[in-house]
Amino acid sequence: MALVKIFLGQTTGNFWVDNGLVVLYRFFGEGEFEVEKILEDLLERLVQETGNEGEYFDPENEEIKKYPKKNWLYPTNLFIKATPRAPKIKIAGKSYFTHPPAYELKLSFSCKEETCDLCGETAPLTKAKMWNYPFVVEPGKFANFYPGLKRELRICPTCAVAGLAAYLGWLWCAQGKDALHIFCFHGDLADLERLQREVFDPLRLEEKGRNVPLAFYGPYLHETVFGLLLRLFSLVRRNSQEAEKLSPEARELLAQLLGAAEKPAVQPLLLYVVTGKPGQAFTMQSFKEFSRLAALYRLYKAFLEILPPEHPQEILESVFRQFQKREGRGYNTIWRDKIAAAVLDFGDPLPFIEEFLYKGSEKRPLVFKTLEVFEVYLKEVLNMDAQLLKVIRGFGYTLGSHAQKENEMGLLYTLRNAKNLDEFFRVLNDVQYRLSLTIPEDILAVESGELIKGSPWKRVKTLLSIYAMNAFLRRQNETSKEA
Ligand SMILES: [Zn+2]
Repeated sequence: MALVKIFLGQTTGNFWVDNGLVVLYRFFGEGEFEVEKILEDLLERLVQETGNEGEYFDPENEEIKKYPKKNWLYPTNLFIKATPRAPKIKIAGKSYFTHPPAYELKLSFSCKEETCDLCGETAPLTKAKMWNYPFVVEPGKFANFYPGLKRELRICPTCAVAGLAAYLGWLWCAQGKDALHIFCFHGDLADLERLQREVFDPLRLEEKGRNVPLAFYGPYLHETVFGLLLRLFSLVRRNSQEAEKLSPEARELLAQLLGAAEKPAVQPLLLYVVTGKPGQAFTMQSFKEFSRLAALYRLYKAFLEILPPEHPQEILESVFRQFQKREGRGYNTIWRDKIAAAVLDFGDPLPFIEEFLYKGSEKRPLVFKTLEVFEVYLKEVLNMDAQLLKVIRGFGYTLGSHAQKENEMGLLYTLRNAKNLDEFFRVLNDVQYRLSLTIPEDILAVESGELIKGSPWKRVKTLLSIYAMNAFLRRQNETSKEA
């Protein structure tokens, strides 16, 4: 017999199955259940009234009656295409159902017991379908999700219904017609269950476009993930309004899972994100795993320490939110995504901040505390020499202010465009003559490997051009306000 076995004892190693198992556990508890009963229950939760009415012909009373139309819950409807069936009859040239159409999902299992491809259990098997494992079933569309899979996936009753239940455990954010992001977590199943129940249930939003609070979001994967993480981190520190919706135990659990508590969880949290284009169907564009959440949390804490204690979270969010440009009716957020991607991977965000300032910021300086936040990043992550940083900051400020006064914006563009160390020094030479400024020795102290005090020359150039342009724009904005 096809039985669904719900136990939280161990993970299957597949985050989609695990998230589904947790949802099943929350509805049914632990135990063994008939597949049909569970399918029926899940169907009820996944199909909702749309608010519209349809008509059907009632043969018994021979009259046309109304019924509430239903549909798969958004965004499940992008993945489940099963349309309801009912017999039809023609009355006065128009066809009617003879009863309200019923939504159904059916599973049939092999008689022979074999090994499930997902969990390894020996059980009767069924082929994975679009409606329970959308990312696996269409290898053309979702190839990078399961790269090793050459044939169709054959799964046990538990994995089959867990795949469907997983939709109800998602966190998601839709960005109009551009993108749908799906966030899934992994770890110990009992912890994952508590995370869903104690942390994400109280936070759940009933908004149309998303069901979880985010500091910001857009069509791209990294910016949206970073927007989610900033809010998750704020919960541990009680830095946002949402944090007050959680119990102290829930905050402690989150701290442990993020590796932010004194005693971190045995299995720290992993975050999986799928991003794709919604439409008639869903086209996956990227899939990524984030595993260094504890290190990111430490970085977040270091950012907060240098911000004013009154509203550190708001200031930090506005620093990262600013990297967008109004275009038409929406925003181009490509800079924010690239900067977020660099930070999430502990890479170098400076080239994208520079590009934003010269191309995207629409002649406005960076918002309050931006440079201070990235100075923390340069010291903590990119190991930039503190003395060098101080020198670049000071000289960049002088350079930008003088360039503004002398109407020499072109000089800053030449600095920005310097392609090699020679060009960089030639620009500095120009600066010396045209603005009568002395170049600090620290910036000229080149070591082997074209390093300046341990930093690549290009990073020094980029940082200098950021400070200079920011000072230029700040001064320009101030003088235009005075005028
Ligand atoms: Zn299985």
